[in-house]
This record gives sequence, C-alpha cells and structure tokens, in this order.
Amino acid sequence: MESRDIEVRTHTALHVLKGAVVKVLGNEAMWTASTYVSGNRGRLVVQFTRKPSIEEIDKIFELANLKIREDVPIKVLHLARSEAEEIFGKIIYDLYPVPGEVDTLQVVVIDGWNINACSKEHLRSTGGVGRVRLRKWRFRGSKKLLELSFEVLEAGEADE
Ligand SMILES: [Zn+2]
Repeated sequence: MESRDIEVRTHTALHVLKGAVVKVLGNEAMWTASTYVSGNRGRLVVQFTRKPSIEEIDKIFELANLKIREDVPIKVLHLARSEAEEIFGKIIYDLYPVPGEVDTLQVVVIDGWNINACSKEHLRSTGGVGRVRLRKWRFRGSKKLLELSFEVLEAGEADE
C-alpha cells in the first residue's frame, strides 16, 4: 500500500478515536491538543483533567473498533466559517487555531460520533481504517494532556 493511502487511513483513525475518547471520558476530553501521523502510526493528544484508568483506555479502543466495524459514512462538508460555527459551534475546533484568514472550512462529520474542522484527506467511511491498536499511552499531569499512541492494522491482522 502506498504511504499516502496508509496515512489517510491513519489520519481517519484519529477522528474515530477522538469520538471514542469523548464517549468514554466525556466532554472534558473534547479538546485536541495535537495529532501526529507517520505511516500506520498515529498519536492523539487531548486535554484532560486526570489520569484515566486502564479500563477506560481499553474501552476507548474497543468503541473505536466497533465504530470502524460499523463502517459508517464520513461526511465532508465545505462551509463558510461563520456558517460552520453557527451550525456546530466551537466543537469543530481544536486547541490549535485555524488561521484567521481561513474563511471556508472543511468540516468532517461522523454522525453522533465526531465533528471536526479538518482540511486533510479522509476515507469515505470508517470501515476502511481496518483496526486500531493501542501502542502506548501516558497522562502528563503537569500539562493535563492525555497521549494515545496507536497503530492502524488490517481488520483481520493478528496481533504480533
Ligand atoms: Zn481529518
């Protein structure tokens, strides 16, 4: 698989995972501080107030994989920034700002799961991600940041 294709999958997985993070940890975890993608590996960093339990971390990945298996559509809307803010509110944003001169937003919607202004390329539905697996995680108490490092695998690929 070409590296660009795998990175579209890994990037799309960030949206699925973020939805699962908010389902499990609540709205306190709704602000993404940073993301990183390289090949089939990715990292999602969200602001959070406490160290989650291992059960919560496991639950996040369980829900993310269920959402992948559901193979639900990923909608991409192009909206005037003011309109996007009016419809969805500030939840479309991350902690890092969209530059002020940007007046049209690409908004990526997984119904009932995740809404995010994001200019990158995405899969058309969640199923193409295959599977996400936790690599490692840590909570940085001083910065109140939860870091989830993961990898994207084929749906049927066994754990090594
Ligand atoms: Zn995106």
